[in-house]
Amino acid sequence: MDLRLTEEQEAFAASVRAFAHEHVEPGVLERDRAGRWDPELWREVAAFGLAGLPVPEEYGGSGADVLTTGLALEALAYGGRDAGLNLSLGAHLTIGCMPIALHGTDEQKQQWLPRMASGASIGAFAITEPEAGSDTAGMKTSARREGDTWVLNGTKTFITNGGLADVVTVVARTDPDAPDGQAFTAFLVEAGWNGFSVSRELKKLGNRTSPTVELSFSDVEVPETAVLGDPGTALWAVGFECFDWERTCMIASAVGGMHRDLDECVRYAKDREAFGKPIGTFGAIQHKLAQMRIRLENARNLQRQAAWRKDHGLEHQIEASMAKAYVGEAAVASALDAVQIHGGWGYLDEFHVERSLRDAKLATIGGGTTEIQELLISRMLLG
Ligand SMILES: Cc1cc2nc3c(=O)[nH]c(=O)nc-3n(C[C@H](O)[C@H](O)[C@H](O)COP(=O)(O)OP(=O)(O)OC[C@H]3O[C@@H](n4cnc5c(N)ncnc54)[C@H](O)[C@@H]3O)c2cc1C
Repeated sequence: MDLRLTEEQEAFAASVRAFAHEHVEPGVLERDRAGRWDPELWREVAAFGLAGLPVPEEYGGSGADVLTTGLALEALAYGGRDAGLNLSLGAHLTIGCMPIALHGTDEQKQQWLPRMASGASIGAFAITEPEAGSDTAGMKTSARREGDTWVLNGTKTFITNGGLADVVTVVARTDPDAPDGQAFTAFLVEAGWNGFSVSRELKKLGNRTSPTVELSFSDVEVPETAVLGDPGTALWAVGFECFDWERTCMIASAVGGMHRDLDECVRYAKDREAFGKPIGTFGAIQHKLAQMRIRLENARNLQRQAAWRKDHGLEHQIEASMAKAYVGEAAVASALDAVQIHGGWGYLDEFHVERSLRDAKLATIGGGTTEIQELLISRMLLG
């Protein structure tokens, strides 16, 4: 087996890292302090060609596979250290564009994908509700058919890009009595439709440069042409694909953050002196660096294996859940080590690792918590 990237993949990742160093990293501290989404930076990311990575070429994207899309996210996180930007881009690509690319009609793809791939439109996916996160089937948002339209009512929360998006894929219960596999339908809801609004902007621990909002739907009339995929099947079809992309691909952002923190910690351990010696000469610091390196290797291998298996059409559910569970917990553990290695300076935001710790925590929650991944893994083990 050959785990090396191809020369082309290495060159692509290097180009994304260089772009991120130059365009994303400057100002990230101020953007995080202000909790500011930067539309100009988004335009630069799109102009660089990242907004349509996995979108098929016929719809204006690059047709990149899961592994390559993950490489881009990893490199962007490494070079830019802006986890919020990574979150917004990752969500746009994996749960914004991909549901439409995979389940859309040709008209829906023509309408949305070229605009999304160019970055002119941003995508979002809304399944979580105030009282139903892990238990997605417990959602209350509903849509009832009235003639040729559906009438949508409910509230979605924690929606990444929800207030930026021109189109949001919204999952709602359409049959109160059917089993889960036949009870939910996905709709492409457009910004500006009557009854659809951003009802709350959410303040969060980390990833602050990415806007997260609550969305409300009050008698929103959705035309039949905006139904995404087969009615009734959204939970297992559209929802499943979204979670799968989050677990195999989007978590590569956390891997990039871990790598950058490790490199910064190695540099700091060589420069910073205590008791007349570089702190890197102390065993306690060396052990932390070694554990950070081991976690990075494991996290990267698990993510890339899951992505590669998905790309090759191989069964990969247990790999995706293992990757998601491991990367999230490892990212938090390594970010804690990074803060500790930096001592008091690590507790200040200007040394960046404090932000890494706040940002990393999301990887254990969004896209299915660690506990839910463990539940899925154990179910696959026990049958
Ligand atoms: C910044 C951010 C961005 C997000 N972006 C999006 C988005 O774009 N679109 C979207 O739809 N959602 C999004 N989410 C929502 C996210 O996917 C959910 O928060 C997550 O799935 C957990 O759901 P919950 O918050 O309701 O927690 P709960 O489901 O209430 O879980 C609470 C705790 O109980 C545990 N738990 C729950 N059930 C079980 C069980 N059966 N066994 C063991 N433990 C269990 C959980 O692991 C957790 O520790 C985002 C969340 C955040 C924080």
